[in-house]
Amino acid sequence: DTLINQIAAGEVVERPASVVKELVENALDAGATRVDIDLEEGGARLIRIRDDGAGIAAEELPLAVSRHATSKIASLDDLEGVATLGFRGEALPSIASVSRFALISRRNGAEHGAALEIDGGRLGEVAPKPHPQGTTVEVRDLFFNVPARRKFLKAERTELSHIEEWLRQLALARPDVELRVSHNGKASRRWKGEGDLLSDVRINETLGEEFARNALRVDHSGAGLRLHGWIAQPAYNRASADQQYLYVNGRAVRDRSIAHAVKQAYADVLFHGRQPAYVLFLELDPRRVDVNVHPAKHEVRFRDSRLIHDFVYRTLHDALAETRA
Ligand code: ADP
Ligand code: MG
Repeated sequence: DTLINQIAAGEVVERPASVVKELVENALDAGATRVDIDLEEGGARLIRIRDDGAGIAAEELPLAVSRHATSKIASLDDLEGVATLGFRGEALPSIASVSRFALISRRNGAEHGAALEIDGGRLGEVAPKPHPQGTTVEVRDLFFNVPARRKFLKAERTELSHIEEWLRQLALARPDVELRVSHNGKASRRWKGEGDLLSDVRINETLGEEFARNALRVDHSGAGLRLHGWIAQPAYNRASADQQYLYVNGRAVRDRSIAHAVKQAYADVLFHGRQPAYVLFLELDPRRVDVNVHPAKHEVRFRDSRLIHDFVYRTLHDALAETRA
């Protein structure tokens, strides 16, 4: 079983950032309003994610780390509606099979917390352990038992920057959640929880003051579509495509067609050959978009791709053109 999990880990766990992503997504699935992320050595030595979500009952800890014990899919029909993707019950067992792993939790309403340790896939016993409501997952020495994988971890700074990039993407999507990050014992980032609407403050904290100062706010609806967010004006354009955040119904996606529409609008009004910086949210009826094309790669397929392309192009073109008039 450990072997199966390690093989699955090959797909789920690419690097520390993928562990952070899986664990933080679990925390959010559990309704957390605050998530603490403690890292050491770029996550290779330690990733500790603590949340204030619903927690896991002591007797369910072993289940949470066994394969396909997801609480998400009650029936096959649900598969279609799985918006919270993850790997459907594979993340925890996979991660636990390639690390020194501990799960400590206290279920909402339970009197005590409990812990379960797994060392390179070897399951320990559930033992009582004090813990506030919510869950802590500790992942130490990632790939310690898979030297071939360990060898491929990059420098501490590189792994850390992958984690930070994913956290920025999350921070923009979930302004309601407080996020605290520490690295090697030092507090490194903090986003305060703000409610459902992404504010200029969080934009500023995430993408920097210069982006915030130069960003144009956009909010336009039509044809059952709504596009809102921020796009940077000429004073802040980038040589690289490093600040391009697109969300479809709240989920970070990569979409060639929309990226093209944004870039084209930007180029037609402002600059050729420069990269726009933006944080854009497209909202539409979920039936108009298929999110299960390639969950891990954040690809989606639109029913009416051409219409959406043109809507995005037109919205941004007009908004940007107005600033020039
Ligand atoms: P999935 O997220 O696809 O269900 P995981 O392996 O990531 O699979 O998690 C397995 C299960 O463990 C979840 O379905 C959930 O019931 C439980 N779980 C994991 N992390 C948490 C958490 N932070 N808080 C509460 N429950 C959790
Ligand atoms: Mg999960």
